[in-house]
Amino acid sequence: MSTARSDTAVTLAVNELFGPTFQGEGPSQGRLARFVRLFGCHLTCGWCDTPQTWDRRRHDLTAEQRHIAVADILDWLSDAPDGMLVITGGEPLLQQRALEPLLIAIRQNSLASEIEVETSGTIAPSPAVVEAVTRFIVSPKLAHSGLLERQRLRPAALRQFVLSGKAIWKFVVQSVPDLDEVENLVVQYRLDPVWVMPEGTDSTTVLDRLRLLADLVLERGWNLTSRLHILLWENARAR
Ligand code: SF4
Repeated sequence: MSTARSDTAVTLAVNELFGPTFQGEGPSQGRLARFVRLFGCHLTCGWCDTPQTWDRRRHDLTAEQRHIAVADILDWLSDAPDGMLVITGGEPLLQQRALEPLLIAIRQNSLASEIEVETSGTIAPSPAVVEAVTRFIVSPKLAHSGLLERQRLRPAALRQFVLSGKAIWKFVVQSVPDLDEVENLVVQYRLDPVWVMPEGTDSTTVLDRLRLLADLVLERGWNLTSRLHILLWENARAR
């Protein structure tokens, strides 16, 4: 496997490695994928579905965190290199220095057909990360996250994602008025293409909100995604 040993000795703080499974959300929904869920997030969204990556009030963060060398993640991937790889979190770009050698080695050794990075869009990606990924799934948070605007919207970072030419914009929506908030952000930052995804961690909520939103999303000319893993397995971890 090509890539200098010193690069692959770097460690990442990981919450979970899992798959093969399906990518449950966004433009690649239903595709065969493996997931690297990185540990840590600097945000505190009220409805976060992966609080085990950051919320010490509800989780034993010591138990949730493993430091894994890039070389060991590459070995895990090389066991079954079919399908795409999703790097998620938490906020994966908090660790983008350590991510760079992983992404570069995956590319050099063809260990994934495509690489998606799921991010809140609050940290600008480095040139090396931009070069290596297939696409960014950027999910700017709306007011219902409970975050202050200055926490959830970082204009300079959003502009870097737009400039990368590799961003798709996935908005987590709870109710109809949220769509106006999405529209304002789309216009202000020239975000395209747009995907709307219902917030929910049980299949009933996800389906109800999909039906509530579908026609209105169509009217605005946007895309709609469900949460396939929730519809299939409810909120089971590592699925
Ligand atoms: S940005 Fe993502 S991982 Fe972080 S708190 Fe919000 S939903 Fe959770």
